[in-house]
Amino acid sequence: GNSPYKQHAAVITGGAGKIPLGLPRKPLRIVVTGGAGFVGSHLVDRLIERGDSVIVVDNFFTGRKENVQHHFGNPRFELIRHDVVEPLLLEVDQIYHLACPASPVHYKFNPIKTIKTNVVGTLNMLGLAKRIGARFLLTSTSEVYGDPLEHPQKETYWGNVNPIGVRSCYDEGKRTAETLAMDYHRGADVQVRIARIFNTYGPRMCIDDGRVVSNFVAQTLRKEPMTVYGDGKQTRSFQFVSDLVEGLMRLMEGEHVGPFNLGNPGEFTILELAQVVKDVIDPTATIEYKENTSDDPHKRKPDISKAKELLGWEPKISLEKGLPLMVEDFRKRIFGDHKDV
Ligand code: NAD
Ligand code: UDP
Ligand code: UDP
Repeated sequence: GNSPYKQHAAVITGGAGKIPLGLPRKPLRIVVTGGAGFVGSHLVDRLIERGDSVIVVDNFFTGRKENVQHHFGNPRFELIRHDVVEPLLLEVDQIYHLACPASPVHYKFNPIKTIKTNVVGTLNMLGLAKRIGARFLLTSTSEVYGDPLEHPQKETYWGNVNPIGVRSCYDEGKRTAETLAMDYHRGADVQVRIARIFNTYGPRMCIDDGRVVSNFVAQTLRKEPMTVYGDGKQTRSFQFVSDLVEGLMRLMEGEHVGPFNLGNPGEFTILELAQVVKDVIDPTATIEYKENTSDDPHKRKPDISKAKELLGWEPKISLEKGLPLMVEDFRKRIFGDHKDV
């Protein structure tokens, strides 16, 4: 059509462990909302590396230009400062919709903005997908399961969520976003994909975003005690970011709507996580107990059999292997040498 992009035939390679794309095809035009954030920027790296054109749409609430600045000057990369709560006109083939603060500290900072982002922002991006016939992927969350009464969590579980609590702007917001995606799919024929992401960590996480892995790593590097909330017996499953990005791309390219759990089934108590951080970074690290926040889920572990079977995906990087991969990045950003963050 009248694409503003030159369509070159590009050979897309599918190296070991990467998404097998097979035949040469035209480069795609892809929007990544929230692409200047932690997960989004790693996704952008892979899409650019694959030969596609990427437009990042971000309001820089929690994202940073530094996360994508290595693409500045690349004609296949574009960065737009835009808030998804406002309508947006673009012409693309695929929309990865990630825009939304993910850390509890950030999403509780302005809860009304968070729910608007999840509801109005997702509505706008679905309206965009409908108008241009683009495929739309929603990054939902394991928080849709709330404080789960089923363990591990399967996609068929409907969850145990408080609709009026301090986390509701996020978990109920994401549940509404899933509903919107399914209604646009059924009612307007939009091709949608839904990922339910479990706790993910890696380089480029905000250092002070309050999430447990970033807190423990930053605290240990700064020689401060690791803050364990409550008794530390609550569990989480921690996924390294490259595993997640691989899962998101397979989901987008595949034929299945989902929802799909994308997470690492390795389950750790918060105290066990503290021990791994100690082993990896500093054996003299200490722990300080703090009061827990309200509505904190007691346990969380994905059942990933659906993604294994239908997407041929499973995580490859254990916590013991993944943690060292983020330590160097955190060290540089905490102690200076900002050149190549
Ligand atoms: P992040 O905070 O690093 O990234 C979110 C990005 O969205 C940031 O760049 C932020 O500036 C941008 N953003 C926020 N509100 C916006 C708005 N209204 N308009 C435009 N841009 C906006 O978080 P992340 O960890 O990279 O998470 C990405 C997505 O994955 C989120 O949708 C999150 O809910 C989901 N998710 C993440 C995790 C995880 O553990 N990291 C777990 C479950 C779900
Ligand atoms: N929208 C957008 N970009 C587009 C098309 C729609 O941001 O290219 C927004 C639009 O402003 C609306 C939302 O998406 O608020 C839903 O659009 P839809 O066409 O489904 O609904 P309608 O506009 O009919 O309410
Ligand atoms: N947590 C903790 N110390 C911290 C930050 C978090 O003990 O410094 C706990 C928190 O209470 C929760 C778990 O770690 O039980 C995961 O919290 P996070 O905010 O990383 O993600 P969540 O899964 O709650 O969204």
